[in-house]
Amino acid sequence: MNNTPTGIHHVTAIASDPQANVDFYAGLLGLRLVKKTVNFDDPSAYHLYYGDETGTPGSIMTFFYWPGHGGRGRVGPGQMTGLSFSASQPSLDYWYDRLTRYGIAVERKNRFGEEVLSFADPDRVPGEIVAVADDNRHGWAGDNIPAAQALRGFHTAGLTVRTAGLTERLLTGIMGYRFLRREGNRTRFEAGPGGSGRYIDVIGDNAAPPGLQGTGTIHHVAWRVPDDASQLAMHKLLADAGYEVSEVRDRYYFHSIYYREQGGILFEIATDVPGFSVDEPVASLGTALKLPQQFERARKQIETSLPPLQPARRYA
Ligand code: ZN
Repeated sequence: MNNTPTGIHHVTAIASDPQANVDFYAGLLGLRLVKKTVNFDDPSAYHLYYGDETGTPGSIMTFFYWPGHGGRGRVGPGQMTGLSFSASQPSLDYWYDRLTRYGIAVERKNRFGEEVLSFADPDRVPGEIVAVADDNRHGWAGDNIPAAQALRGFHTAGLTVRTAGLTERLLTGIMGYRFLRREGNRTRFEAGPGGSGRYIDVIGDNAAPPGLQGTGTIHHVAWRVPDDASQLAMHKLLADAGYEVSEVRDRYYFHSIYYREQGGILFEIATDVPGFSVDEPVASLGTALKLPQQFERARKQIETSLPPLQPARRYA
């Protein structure tokens, strides 16, 4: 049985200000805030999840917030440095106009024959929107993004490493990814049935200064597997190959294992189940502060320690 990952599950980055982050990702980019919870390792800080209507794996962007400590990071080798969302072909001009109208610098690129808009969020986490003709996923058409323009989820995870070969061997070996194409120092792989949300670009760069973890950088990337059995099978394969793999952690909305690939990037393998509607109905996802059982007793204290969070700013 094939237990290898079928694509991106979620991406977690580090931001400084939760409100500015909500305004950008939910307000300007129009993703749905699907879960408002706390960092399970530090319940005095938010952990927010954005995605499509239900937070389908492959659409989930999450953030840790390091307001007073940690400081700024530096994007560079040893990190996921490219996070791209997929949008319909005709919507690229819409996104270019929308982002530039609100002061976001946008660069137009062409990569593997696809049009790409490149920008950065308020913490300078790099982001991209790629025009894709054949992505049938439905994005979240929030308050002010027309359905035709909605971002449909992730397109590619761009991984920058010093020695591409080491990372590529892991991807095409144990992790079951297939080589797709190469352009300069960028090589594209795909998993499962392929297509948007299932690509990885490995970018070899041994000149840039190494990435430094902090605000404005991507903390880790999670690959999706359908269930616990596939995850355990991957755990064994990785451990047998000498990777130091964490025990299974219960992240409440999915189960996770973590390991570091040889280029220095923290990888996670997360299950597609149980999903975000496990503790609140789909219709009201993301509206109430949800706490795992072990923190419920301290709810009052946690709520008062968290900064107030308003609904996303509305952009015209
Ligand atoms: Zn994660």
